[in-house]
Amino acid sequence: MRESRLLSFIHRITAQRACLNRAHYMVRELPGPVLELGLGNGRTYDHLRLLFSDREIFVFERKIAAHPDCLPDDEHAILGDFRDTIPSALERIRAPAAFIHGDFGSANRKKTAALAAWLAPQLIPIAAPGAIVATDQYMKTQGLKRIVPPPAVVEGCYFMYRVEK
Ligand code: SAM
Repeated sequence: MRESRLLSFIHRITAQRACLNRAHYMVRELPGPVLELGLGNGRTYDHLRLLFSDREIFVFERKIAAHPDCLPDDEHAILGDFRDTIPSALERIRAPAAFIHGDFGSANRKKTAALAAWLAPQLIPIAAPGAIVATDQYMKTQGLKRIVPPPAVVEGCYFMYRVEK
């Protein structure tokens, strides 16, 4: 039987919570801001705000449409397409990131995969050595080492990487 959309949603949000919590623990001694790539409704951003209350969190988003309680301030909202904003992100975030969360998948799998393939190498210069990346997309690039996600993550639902450079 195929996985229902309800079940895949449950898997997805379960994986998100597990990966964000795990990343929070893994970078506890690594300074640097947190990046949220894809604000959407703002659910994961809100979770990040609670976990990383002592850090700056920068949000990258094409068009803000989040819950009004989950909006970053202007300084921390970097608006535009990732292809335009990520390459120069270091100017805005000022220090390499300790944790990057990327949740940007859409119904168009082909386009999403192409975006992930473009994005992966772009993350290396804006991340600190030892930084953690958690994302809904498979990524493969020099400098990103795939690591095992928490047991709550259904295989292939979410991915975690360590930046090794
Ligand atoms: N994690 C969010 C939450 O918990 O509510 C959901 C994120 S939603 C699935 C994906 C978001 O990524 C959308 O808001 C979309 O606009 C954004 N996005 C996708 N591709 C993008 C791109 N190339 N540039 C900027 N934002 C993009």
